[in-house]
Amino acid sequence: SPTLTARHLHARYGGFTALDGVDLDVPPGEVTAIVGPNGAGKSTLFHCLAGTHRPSRGQVLLGGRDVTRLAAHARTRLGIGRTFQQLAVFPSLTVAENVQVGAEQARVRDPGAVERALRLLGLDGPVRASPAAGLPTGTLRRVELARALAGSPRVLLLDEPAAGLDTAEVTALTRVLKALAADGTGLLVVEHDLDLVADLADVVHVMTAGRIVASGPPGSVLDTL
Ligand code: ADP
Ligand code: ADP
Repeated sequence: SPTLTARHLHARYGGFTALDGVDLDVPPGEVTAIVGPNGAGKSTLFHCLAGTHRPSRGQVLLGGRDVTRLAAHARTRLGIGRTFQQLAVFPSLTVAENVQVGAEQARVRDPGAVERALRLLGLDGPVRASPAAGLPTGTLRRVELARALAGSPRVLLLDEPAAGLDTAEVTALTRVLKALAADGTGLLVVEHDLDLVADLADVVHVMTAGRIVASGPPGSVLDTL
């Protein structure tokens, strides 16, 4: 898998500078985490990497393509998968149908991709046939992640993946994400839960006021916060 690379990203809302020159690599086979206080620019950076916020300057490159210039379907087909901070499943579709959408959007034709994603997230039991509406948050987060995985992403961007999960669910999530990284996927996680970051991340970037102010393995970086 290629590295997702942000170069000299700047982003503005009117006159307000939300990103002030961010350089970042999301390499394959690693979990990269972004932490920092509210308002630091984490969500804006996430949206630039996901291609849903056009930076005012700079590039986001994957395999030689600038993803900030691509339409959503092109980014998905290029191999960028994501989840959402506000859960975004289709409530009237079943769990399995939601995951199928992920394969279709990415034009993944391997019929096994959906089943593998369901199995990896423990959604291959009876719950697969349940409409998503009304399922607990932890299950919906798993559905979202399975939908992203069904698209066989090379880079997976996760916005607060542990929000609303209980301890057991966080443990299970950690195991799944580590397995994906070990398989060669590049993972980027924006996460408030620093214990999870310490468990999960290979590299942590600390953001403050639109800049990355510290980077390194969690053991060295998180101790300074
Ligand atoms: P974080 O995710 O670290 O909390 P954000 O990227 O959401 O940071 O926001 C960075 C800064 O940009 C904050 O001061 C926020 O209020 C501001 N901001 C974010 N989105 C908008 C917007 N759509 N319009 C104006 N200001 C925004
Ligand atoms: P998130 O971290 O999901 O962006 P927020 O509560 O920070 O959650 O923001 C929710 C929405 O409001 C986002 O779309 C964000 O861009 C927008 N937003 C955040 N701060 C501001 C702001 N100061 N002015 C206008 N919109 C904002």
